[in-house]
Amino acid sequence: MTYTREQILHTAKLLQPQLAKLPDLNLELQTLISQAEKGQPVEDDILSLLASNDRLREEALKLLSTDEKNGTKSASLPGNSAPIDCTPSYKCVECDQALESPQVGIKPKCPDHPKAQVKAI
Ligand SMILES: [Zn+2]
Repeated sequence: MTYTREQILHTAKLLQPQLAKLPDLNLELQTLISQAEKGQPVEDDILSLLASNDRLREEALKLLSTDEKNGTKSASLPGNSAPIDCTPSYKCVECDQALESPQVGIKPKCPDHPKAQVKAI
């Protein structure tokens, strides 16, 4: 199983506060994070540091697998560009004629009473 640099860095940052009681690990992780942010390839070092503590390893795996699930989920979802098919309908208050909204958010006009109010049905 491989993780992206972003995933590892993100996880490391989330876990860092939990290292408050482990000053040695905390300092080491902080150093690795800043090295990673400078573009140094320290992902493996971060992973082995996290794996050196049972609790941290568990948390890290949880966070990394959550990230992975989210990634898969958003990748498989169709875009939000699908048309909304619940176009609101209106009617003319003068003649009760049903009118289709030309576009969501725009009120239609009655062809016979262009100045009349239209009501949402
Ligand atoms: Zn009308």
